[in-house]
Formats: sequence, C-alpha cells, structure tokens
Amino acid sequence: MIRVVASGPHTRLESELCGQCPQGVTGCCAAPPVIAWADLGRIVNLGGAPWLLEELAHERLYPCPRGLAIHRVENPDAATTGRERKCVYHGERGCTVPHDRRSATCNYYVCDDALGGASPALRDKLTADFAEWDLVLAARVRARPLEWTLEFLEWLGRESAALVIEGSDGNRRRRAVEG
Ligand code: SF4
Ligand code: SF4
Repeated sequence: MIRVVASGPHTRLESELCGQCPQGVTGCCAAPPVIAWADLGRIVNLGGAPWLLEELAHERLYPCPRGLAIHRVENPDAATTGRERKCVYHGERGCTVPHDRRSATCNYYVCDDALGGASPALRDKLTADFAEWDLVLAARVRARPLEWTLEFLEWLGRESAALVIEGSDGNRRRRAVEG
C-alpha cells in the first residue's frame, strides 16, 4: 500500500514494502541518487545551504558533473544483500537524513513492486519534472563560474524556485527548456 504525502516538488511516496524490501535491508540505499541541481535548489530553499556546505566539508557529499554525489561506505549487510557498499546516510534504522535534506528521488521514488498495483503516474511525473528542471539548471550552471560557496547555492535556490513556479505554466516551462 502506498501513502502519498503531497507537497509539490517535496512530495513523498511511502510504501509498506520498503520496510521489508525484497532486495534486503539496504534496499534502494545501496545505490543513492545524485543530489542534482534541482535537488540542491530544493534543499537550499528549505534552509539547507549550510548543511550542504558542512556535508561537502566532511566529504559525505562531493562534486560530480550533475551536482553533488553521495559518498558510499562499506555495507555491513553485504553478506545478506549482495551489495558491498551503501549510502553514507543509511543507518541501522534506515535513512538518517530528514526529508528536506534528501534528493527528491529519495522522497518520491518507489519501485513497481512497492507500488503494488498503484498508479505510477505521480512517481513518473515527479521524475520527468526533476529531469526537466535539471536540464535547464545544468545549462545555467555551465554559463557561470562554479564554486561551492553559499553564494552559488543561494543563486541555485533562486533559479530553482523561479523554474518551479514557471513549471506551473506548461508553455513557460517549455520555453525555459528550449531557451
Ligand atoms: S522502493 Fe522497492 S527496492 Fe526500494 S526499498 Fe522500496 S521495496 Fe525496496
Ligand atoms: S539519503 Fe537516505 S533515502 Fe537517500 S539513499 Fe541515502 S539513506 Fe537512502
């Protein structure tokens, strides 16, 4: 059964199956998603810029071409899951990061098994929206100097907020992607 906590780009899909994941206790967190440009903007706009800089300083996050990648650590459950490594934020009782500091993918992605026959429409729409926002933001990031500073993150937050607002109007969003 799926529980939806609807909140625009912060929407969460939660499935009972994830607590007993058929892939083992590490579940999806064996392969953490990139915190991509639109995710970073979302986190900044929820007050997380200092947290991002702290995580960068501690190297739990590190720069990659799409934004920030999450460090992976040895998985103590490798023998039972077959997954040698897992997300640095995965603890004994699951994710140790609050929802407003996660990649949006961590909040809305559930596999087809977890959907259990429920419609994938909301998951797929959020996937498409974030992919589209990332495309636009990546082009804007490439057009300016990239330094991992508070100033850069705050700029990304503003760009991201404007894009999500534009996204409520299909025509304006298409123009942003094409432009
Ligand atoms: S979404 Fe699917 S693979 Fe991921 S933790 Fe849930 S049940 Fe497991
Ligand atoms: S941030 Fe949390 S939910 Fe996302 S992959 Fe890591 S442990 Fe899993």
